[in-house]
Amino acid sequence: MDAPQTATAKPHLPDAQTVTQVTHWTDNLFSFRVTRPRSLRFRSGEFVMIGLLGDNGKPLLRAYSIASPAWDEELEFYSIKVPDGPLTSRLQHIQPGDEIILRPKPVGTLVHDALLPGKRIWFLATGTGLAPFASLMREPETYEKYEQVIMMHTCRTVAELEYGRRLVESLKDDPLIGELVGDKLLYYPTTTREDFHHTGRVTDNLTSGKVFADLGLPAMNPAEDRAMVCGSLAFNIDVKKILEDFGLKEGANSDPQQFVVEKAFVGDGI
Ligand code: FAD
Repeated sequence: MDAPQTATAKPHLPDAQTVTQVTHWTDNLFSFRVTRPRSLRFRSGEFVMIGLLGDNGKPLLRAYSIASPAWDEELEFYSIKVPDGPLTSRLQHIQPGDEIILRPKPVGTLVHDALLPGKRIWFLATGTGLAPFASLMREPETYEKYEQVIMMHTCRTVAELEYGRRLVESLKDDPLIGELVGDKLLYYPTTTREDFHHTGRVTDNLTSGKVFADLGLPAMNPAEDRAMVCGSLAFNIDVKKILEDFGLKEGANSDPQQFVVEKAFVGDGI
């Protein structure tokens, strides 16, 4: 007798979501979109735990900022590829139709509720620290709450800025948010290891006052300016000190103030 035929059903991961799109930006950066659990509610700027099943059969999860806004039907992520990184050495090979694990418990400090009202909001990021701001730049509340939105993003090379550049470029024509964005969004990308129209670190461009001069803005002050910071631990510490020197106070969900900070990753960075 022949062995009974069984359907080779794809094993379903716990909290599985399906990859719908993958874009590789450089050798060490990619973005991808996945289906969104129906029940998932989050505030633009928050992060979730995502991952794959490890070789031991247990979920291998890492924190990831949701790069898409709260109103999007899908979820987008912007990721590093760490050579030999337990998760990203595998995650970088995902393709549309594959499944990833997504724990639907969003948290984070880079949310509008953690800031007092102000005139301008500064988004300060390095590398994949752009991800929460990719969400917040597409969030209507950002433009309803502030007269001006300044996105400062620093990477080593021009190619590493491309995901952010394209996103900003697309906002103007976005049917949902384009009109709200208008000319409120000021984009200030810089490089540190390649020639570009603006160069230098976020920190140096703030302390020297160059960014204020270039954009025609007054120096940061606690009456008008609010900021959100996302980068390496060293970046976050340096920027926090600079913002405090401008007179701004750090806030949290439970205690809204003038700026908030979140780590873009744990470790020294690559
Ligand atoms: P890991 O073992 O996790 O990391 C190995 C080393 O690589 C780290 O020690 C660190 O030095 C370096 N590293 C890790 N992540 C980065 C990074 N993003 N940029 C530069 N160096 C890094 N990563 C993203 O790519 N996109 C995100 O949106 C994102 N959001 C995060 C939000 C929070 C709150 C935190 C804490 C981390 C976030 N990370 C994000 C980092 C992420 O959790 C993982 O560390 C990353 O995916 C690498 O996983 P891994 O297992 O391959 O290597």
